[in-house]
Parts: sequence; C-alpha cells; structure tokens
Amino acid sequence: MAHDEVGGAGLPQERRIVTAIPGPRSQELEARRKRAVAPGVASSMPAYVVAAGGGILRDADGNQIVDLGSGIAVTTVGNANPRVVARAQEQLAAFTHTCFMVNPYESYVEVAEALNRLTPGDHEKRTVLLNSGAEAVENAVKIARVHTRRNAVVVFDHAYHGRTNLTMAMTAKAAPYKKGFGPFAGEIYRAPLSYPFRDDAAAGTKVTGEEAAARAITLIDKQIGADDVAAIVIEPIQGEGGFIVPAEGFLPALVDYARANGIVFVADEVQTGFARTGAMFASEHEGIVPDLVTTAKGLAGGLPLAAVTGRAEIMDSVGAGGLGGTYGGNPAAVAAALGAIEAYEQDRLLERAGAIGEIIVRRVEALQAKHPEIGHVRGRGAMQAIELVQRDTIDPHPELAKAVAGHAAANAVLVLVTGTYGNVLRFLPPLTISDALLEEAFDVLEEGFAQALG
Ligand SMILES: *Cc1c(COP(=O)(O)O)cnc(C)c1O
Repeated sequence: MAHDEVGGAGLPQERRIVTAIPGPRSQELEARRKRAVAPGVASSMPAYVVAAGGGILRDADGNQIVDLGSGIAVTTVGNANPRVVARAQEQLAAFTHTCFMVNPYESYVEVAEALNRLTPGDHEKRTVLLNSGAEAVENAVKIARVHTRRNAVVVFDHAYHGRTNLTMAMTAKAAPYKKGFGPFAGEIYRAPLSYPFRDDAAAGTKVTGEEAAARAITLIDKQIGADDVAAIVIEPIQGEGGFIVPAEGFLPALVDYARANGIVFVADEVQTGFARTGAMFASEHEGIVPDLVTTAKGLAGGLPLAAVTGRAEIMDSVGAGGLGGTYGGNPAAVAAALGAIEAYEQDRLLERAGAIGEIIVRRVEALQAKHPEIGHVRGRGAMQAIELVQRDTIDPHPELAKAVAGHAAANAVLVLVTGTYGNVLRFLPPLTISDALLEEAFDVLEEGFAQALG
C-alpha cells in the first residue's frame, strides 16, 4: 500500500477527483454487492472506501472525498484517530472477548466511570454498555419501566430512535423505517414537538418553548395520564428528523413536568453527544439534567459501542442479570472509547466544534441571502442543517436537496440528506477537518445551488 493510502492522520488532506464518482472500481464492487447484499441496506454514495482520516474519505479509485457526514456523526474524533487505533490494536492483541457477564475487565469499568463523570449532573450515576443506539434506547425504556412500575412511553413528532421493534415504534417516520414492518410494540405515545420554523409559520407569530411544551403536556395529561407514564424520551436536537432545535425553554419545561410527576426523563444523545454540538452533551445548552442519557455514535471513534448512563437510584432498580448482552462493552470497543474520550478531553474538540459551526453558518447564511429556497438555517456547533423549501412558502423542496447532494457527490463532497420531508441537508464533519477543506466543500455546495436553481 502506497504511503498516501494509509488512513487516519496520514492521509493527504486534499479533495481529488481522479475518475467519475463512483469510478470503475467502485462500480465493479457495486455490481458484486447487488448480487450479495440485501437491497434493504442502502448507501448514500456508492464510492467504496479504502482509507479515511482528517476530513477525507479515499475511495477505491483514488478519489478523495470531503467528508461532511462522519459516518452519521460517528467519527467525530476523526476516522482512524491515532488515540483510538492504538488502544484498540493493543487490546485486540491482548484478548478479543470474554463477555463482561462471564469475566469482567477493567476497561469496561473505566468507560462507565468516564460516562458517569462526563454526562450532565453531579449526582451518583451508573452505566450499562451495549452495542448500538437502538439497544441503548431499548434498555433505557426497560430501566424506566422497572423503576416506575409504569408502562407508557412518550416520544415526539419527527423522532428517530432506531430500527428494532420497540425503537421503530418510537421512531416517527413511516417510510423507509417502519412501512410494512409492524405490528409495533405497544404503549408508545407521540406528542407534538417544538419545531420553531414550522410552528412560527403556522401560528403567524413566535411560539415559545413554554407554549410548545404546554401543548405536549396537555396531550400527555389528557390522552395518557401522567401517572401511567414511565418515561419521556427525546433527542435534545432531533437528528434524522432534520436537526430540529426546539425553542428555548421547551426541554426545561418537559424536565420539570417529568420530575413533578415521577416520570423518568431520557435524553437520547446518540447523535448529539460527544462534542458534536460544541458541548460534551447537547442537554448542557439548556442546562437540563436528564435522569437517563443514551449514547452511542460518537462514543468509540467508529467501533460499535453504546451506553445508558443515569441516576444510581433508577439504574439500581434492575436486579442482577436483567441487563446486558453477549457483546455489550466488547473489549476492543471500550478500548477505542477510552481513546476517543481522551481525544474529546485533550484535543480541544469542544472549541473546534464551535469554530466549525461558525464557518458553516457564515457560508450557509451567505447562500441563504442569494437563495430564499434555504428556508431555515439551524443547529449547534458542528451539527448544522439547512431546510429547503419552495420559494416564498414553507412547502418542502426535497428535489433541491437531492440535486445539491448529487452535485456535491459528483464533485467529491459527501453531504447527507435527512428530515421527515427529505428536504434537509445536514452537515456533520469530523472535528479533524481543516478549515480549508470545509470552505472548499461549501464552494462546491454553492455551485450546486447555482446549478440547480439557475
Ligand atoms: C442513530 C440513532 C439511533 C440508533 O442508533 P443505532 O446505533 O443505529 O441503533 C438512536 N437515536 C438517535 C437519536 C440516533 O441518531
């Protein structure tokens, strides 16, 4: 392998277009994939990756793609981050698995200690480690139900919590996540969200966070009954739903309501956690202290690991043997997490997320001044998005999102489309991307808008 094909920090930090994207080698692999891989697993960009690091994905044809997706908010510390790789390699050579439920090991305990220290609030906490975000959300619900001896779970419009049976029920969007996959788990109730862009347009005035919370709380009181609610589960900023930042005051009002009614408040920080928003956790922006926090994506620098961290008195409700799983807290994944956490704490990544956010917001606001189809710019830190609409309306414009993302892909920039209406472009670069690459990516997006809108 030539030196510049080595991934991680060694990969040259430049966009390179060597062939059409996807190139011949990727197309060959795509043909093989069609015969071998279930078509239900789709890919945003069929460029097959051979190395990645900094802000670059290198594909099988030698193209170098600017990464504005981080594998969906996972490689926040950078792909193949040296701290992550060194620790995971050392662990793999020592032992690969024991099952923590059979023979425990220190690194699992160390990750639990780190999560207990880093998540919001200085109360006594406990952590359980799992494999995926969906599994973390499932376990948070199990724990809340045992603790409260209640059944009902409140979730919100536009929510995304995963693809398992329980979390499909909790996820809002039908196609492609739920359609045909029912019947779904029961006792899941959906409440209205605070969605400032659409709420304000519908009301013709600014809807405050408190007003939006009152709307949700009325529904809970009248249609479920607070005494039957085990948990309120919410993403502090909705991810797949379109990076919806609720109006200020919405989350604190829900936390107060939960506390007053003995309901476990669960912040699903699977996407927002770990420096992404410029704080270690997005809950911190509004000073809320959740009872339970679910984490996954950014936790282990790309290895599969997830967690539920929460108040000791809630976590202690489940007896021995009630939680776990064969692979939960796998030794290589927890070693990687210790490397990633070291990076978050020692490499000034919170500040870097803030600086990246400023560049993105400057670029997209300049674009918005030219193109009123950019209806809304929103997000925090290095988790930013634009919602695209038909000119002078709030009607979604998914075709424009697709056209701009397509132009970007053809020009070696990866940008992800999301949102309930498929009309949101989201920007989630690794925090190791250079300013120069980020600016270059937005030059390409600017061309994409100019081309699509004429
Ligand atoms: C991605 C995501 C999940 C599901 O995580 P998986 O690891 O894909 O199971 C759950 N909640 C939120 C907020 C997410 O963004």
